[in-house]
Amino acid sequence: MIIVLKPSAAESDAREILDRIAEAGLKPLHMPGVERTVIGALGDERRLGALHFESHPAVERVDEILAPYKAVSREMHPTDTVVSIGKVPVGGEGFAVFGGPCAVEGRDAFAMTARAVADGGAHGLRGGAFKPRTSPYSFQGLGLEGLEILRDVGRELGLPTITEVVEVADVDAVESHADAFQVGARNMQNFRLLTALGQASRPVILKRGMAASVEDLLMAAEYILSEGNQNVIFCERGIRTFEKGTRNTLDLSAVCQLKAKSHLPVLVDPSHGTGVRAYVTPMAFAAAACGADGILVEVHHDPKRALSDGAQSLFPEQFTDLVTRLRPFVAAAGRHL
Ligand code: PEP
Ligand code: MN
Repeated sequence: MIIVLKPSAAESDAREILDRIAEAGLKPLHMPGVERTVIGALGDERRLGALHFESHPAVERVDEILAPYKAVSREMHPTDTVVSIGKVPVGGEGFAVFGGPCAVEGRDAFAMTARAVADGGAHGLRGGAFKPRTSPYSFQGLGLEGLEILRDVGRELGLPTITEVVEVADVDAVESHADAFQVGARNMQNFRLLTALGQASRPVILKRGMAASVEDLLMAAEYILSEGNQNVIFCERGIRTFEKGTRNTLDLSAVCQLKAKSHLPVLVDPSHGTGVRAYVTPMAFAAAACGADGILVEVHHDPKRALSDGAQSLFPEQFTDLVTRLRPFVAAAGRHL
């Protein structure tokens, strides 16, 4: 439910209403705006009806949020939210570019790719330390050692870092080493993990599950926001379809849907979205054109030797070329790199 206060409402009116929402056992959300304050109430709306806020002298109107997701919805928050990863804003007028290898494979290897990605124009680094692999015999990531490498190299280059968290037990370790959590496609509906991340303080990049609808993704984000952490960024990374020519089908219409239905920023991952190196750059351009707030791209200093996702990883010079040729698409979408 959204409670819109009159422009004349005082801070004390907002406080009183927030307290009464909390006393009724719902979660209050305080959203002070330039012209007026909006208050959200999350939870069982039947309990709110009994409070009759519509007749409160400081209240202009009370609106029901019809969508099943509440804090995530644009109804709750009509303007775009900008979520910062380190000092890099995601959302708003800029277009954010994050690059790096699928996995942190070692200190020298990661430093080499990271330096190339930084020189190529990336705003931040990606690299998995905990890798959820289809086969138990595939490289599973360096774990804590990978986190330390990611942190050290990110600091040396002055770039914020993103890494995947795969279980609740690792949340604290990831939070103390990286600037943003990534929730992978395979964990999008790991509700215990989402709840734990809702209580964490770093931003969360929430990737779409490979068999998840856009509404499933919005509901997954609601788990995080309803626990307190408002800093969620969606990531469209392709879904499973009958198409065999690509690893996944990159659903760019999901970007438009997410933008229409939610105030949260949206990234596109054209690497997992196609699985084919040659298709990554054109789909990155398409992501900028359809209104995404940035991209997450896999790059490797020697893709043929990569321990995971080599076939979709760009060579460093291809990444530099991508960023250079991305500029006109970003400008056409009314943004800047
Ligand atoms: C990744 O980013 O390397 C990854 C495993 O992505 P996804 O969860 O989208 O498959
Ligand atoms: Mn990968």
